[in-house]
Amino acid sequence: MLYKKEDLISYECDGYTMYKGMPRAVVFVKDTEEVSDVVRCLTKEEIPYIARGAGTGLSGGATPLGGEVLISLVKMKRMLRLDLENRKAVVEPGYINLKLTQSISDKGAHCLKYGVTTNHILGLEIVLPSGEIVEIGEGGVPDQPGYDLLGLLTGSEGTLGIVTKVTVKVLKNPEGKKTALAYFDDIDDASQAVSDIIAAGIIPAALEMMDEIAIEGVESAAYPVGHPRDIAGFLLIEVDGIAAGIDDQIEEILAVCKQNNVREVKVAKDEAERSLWWANRKMGFGAMGAMSPDCLVQDGVIPRTRLPEVLAKITEISRKYDLRIANIFHAGDGNLHPLILFDASVPGESERASKAGSECLKVCADVGGSITGEHGVGIEKSAEMRFIFTDEEIAAQTNIRNVFNPEDLLNPGKLFPQPGRCVEVTRRDHEEMHLVP
Ligand SMILES: Cc1cc2nc3c(=O)[nH]c(=O)nc-3n(C[C@H](O)[C@H](O)[C@H](O)COP(=O)(O)OP(=O)(O)OC[C@H]3O[C@@H](n4cnc5c(N)ncnc54)[C@H](O)[C@@H]3O)c2cc1C
Repeated sequence: MLYKKEDLISYECDGYTMYKGMPRAVVFVKDTEEVSDVVRCLTKEEIPYIARGAGTGLSGGATPLGGEVLISLVKMKRMLRLDLENRKAVVEPGYINLKLTQSISDKGAHCLKYGVTTNHILGLEIVLPSGEIVEIGEGGVPDQPGYDLLGLLTGSEGTLGIVTKVTVKVLKNPEGKKTALAYFDDIDDASQAVSDIIAAGIIPAALEMMDEIAIEGVESAAYPVGHPRDIAGFLLIEVDGIAAGIDDQIEEILAVCKQNNVREVKVAKDEAERSLWWANRKMGFGAMGAMSPDCLVQDGVIPRTRLPEVLAKITEISRKYDLRIANIFHAGDGNLHPLILFDASVPGESERASKAGSECLKVCADVGGSITGEHGVGIEKSAEMRFIFTDEEIAAQTNIRNVFNPEDLLNPGKLFPQPGRCVEVTRRDHEEMHLVP
């Protein structure tokens, strides 16, 4: 257990560094029974607490704004069962996805590849705030009758219970894959190509997009590819599946790019080139560190057909707040990551970045999208929940939380705006949460 101030400092926040708070203590648990014991003890003493994994979340979900105790799951890192015949594995919460992939890749399997997390979870073991240990899903039946508790718990951002075991799907590695880059002079053409690819009924394994500011960042970082520096953006496209159909699929996609005025297309000649392109893309967020002292990453979702107008509005927001905004997208999913560059040491700049981020999410909500695609709501976007839900809908969801977490000791103040607060001044919610004793 950690309790000295100097040991607690690195637990002040997760990957969302705008708001910080000191935890009362950090408790490292080693198994389900220990989690249950710690939870019972904290509940009895009415001490609030938060489950924390690797602390890489980007919305402040594991940030202790109210002096909570952090229950760290990093020492629960075993794979408990691998059942390749039925294509599933049971792991503890600290057993990370990459490790699972690496440990079974020689057996011809791959995990968590298609869709989002919830599509790959088959069962959970959970410690409820009462200390009770329950199992959800995984009765050997894919779709159990009754409410979808598995979906509810998977999307609960640590507000309903602490997950101590996860049964995940294990997918087979595709037989073949091909990766291409398409460079565009006009970002609208790149956006239209994304829309047309999906409309043509082709579903690539990945369809990623980066704009010119993001390209400037990754080309100055660890894995430069030599992307032209005068393009408006590129698409990184990967198709996979049965080897026989791969060439046709990539040709079809590149033909769509050509119809949309692509400047240049190239197909990775070997695995080394493909890996370099992906390493370059994955440097996206980190590379912003070389461009600016601070960066706020947003996570909106929009219908893919609205990409051009949403991008134009993000450019307007960038001008309005006088802050550079780079764009990295999982374009195939309509999942945008505007990266707002700012300098927290300049008075007022953090507030401008926050407001710019909130406005980007409003644009996404206004075109029928959502305020988060994969990073979650946490504290960062709790006020913005009102962009998509009415007060009644938020109250209904809060009632669900109360069923599991009636004392609100588990991850309090996260996910939902505090009742009765105003949405216009979104950061006020955070400032007020800061003041919780
Ligand atoms: C550079 C970068 C790129 C990313 N790209 C993607 C991407 O492409 N796709 C994607 O989906 N995500 C992406 N993410 C987000 C990533 O998925 C999350 O950061 C990660 O899943 C959080 O896991 P963690 O263990 O660090 O959770 P933490 O940050 O520790 O916690 C996150 C939330 O989960 C809760 N929690 C943690 N463990 C438990 C538990 N055992 N039981 C109950 N609640 C718990 C916490 O209370 C908190 O609310 C990216 C993040 C980064 C930093």
